[in-house]
Amino acid sequence: MTDFDRRAKTILKNLRGVDENAAKQILNDVVIKGDEVHWEDIAGLDAAKNSLKETVVYPFLRPDLFSGLREPARGMLLFGPPGTGKTMLARAVATESNSTFFSISSSSLTSKFLGESEKLVRALFTLAKAFAPSIIFVDEIDSLLGQRSENGEHEATRRIKNEFLVQWSDLQHAAAGKDHGDSDALRVLVLAATNLPWGIDEAARRRFVRRQYIPLPEPETRKAQLSKLMSHQKHGLNPEDFDTLLELTDGFSGSDITALAKDAAMGPLRSLGDKLLVTPRDEIRPVNIEDFKASLKTVRPSVGKDGLKQFEEWSQEFGSSG
Ligand code: ADP
Repeated sequence: MTDFDRRAKTILKNLRGVDENAAKQILNDVVIKGDEVHWEDIAGLDAAKNSLKETVVYPFLRPDLFSGLREPARGMLLFGPPGTGKTMLARAVATESNSTFFSISSSSLTSKFLGESEKLVRALFTLAKAFAPSIIFVDEIDSLLGQRSENGEHEATRRIKNEFLVQWSDLQHAAAGKDHGDSDALRVLVLAATNLPWGIDEAARRRFVRRQYIPLPEPETRKAQLSKLMSHQKHGLNPEDFDTLLELTDGFSGSDITALAKDAAMGPLRSLGDKLLVTPRDEIRPVNIEDFKASLKTVRPSVGKDGLKQFEEWSQEFGSSG
């Protein structure tokens, strides 16, 4: 039994007012253990990292310094094009702040667990407090806290959304209570991610005190990511080739870059055809710029210029600066 399992057992035994099955489901499916992400695994995004340190990591590690005017935010939103590292950042925050990481996607809440979802939401928040410091990471938050559609929301979805907002408010009130509040509630933060920030309900949007734009990677960031990816691979790319690649990958997201490098790494194997089966490993040729050029014909950026403009406009209007 791991330390976590031992702790979980004691906590589960003493939990009151929470559905036991829901609590178990949360512990099995929602709490992420192992496979840690650290700051240095994420290329670039310095502004976002600094903002996350100030909003979450430092307050969690030095609660004594963050009270009164410096009281930490209870919610932070990461928004931007898909594949730009939002999930990685959330995982790194959990690792670097020694927090328990509860990760749930809105679509699984509103579809997979339909019917049971309210219980699950309650169990989620109760466990997050019991396991504090905790990060509740909600991916695709727009589908949970979305704007009401014209013909009204699905009744079940509306109930889940309300339960989530109620639980979240309780957390805020508990943290702000007298005697410096409930110290466990103080160390639970809702961190949410979305590719569709304009889809979030206005009231819900205001609860995210910090709204951090996670843009497409700058050339320097793409360079760092490419170098890192290629460092595990035999390759013949020289500095000029890297410069060429930076030009060719303008507009690529982090996950587009990963997809491109994976595809290019297949180049030397593809060129062997069936000889692949008999060629010794050390005779496989290094990956070269031609492999990348060939892969660029099929691996294309997932966000277009228009899409990008929409993010930038939303960021101007609603994003936190810095
Ligand atoms: P998002 O949550 O923004 O959609 P993810 O964090 O899930 O994106 O990133 C998807 C994948 O893209 C990651 O698993 C990683 O391989 C790659 N990736 C994206 N951004 C970065 C980055 N800044 N540094 C390193 N890898 C990245």
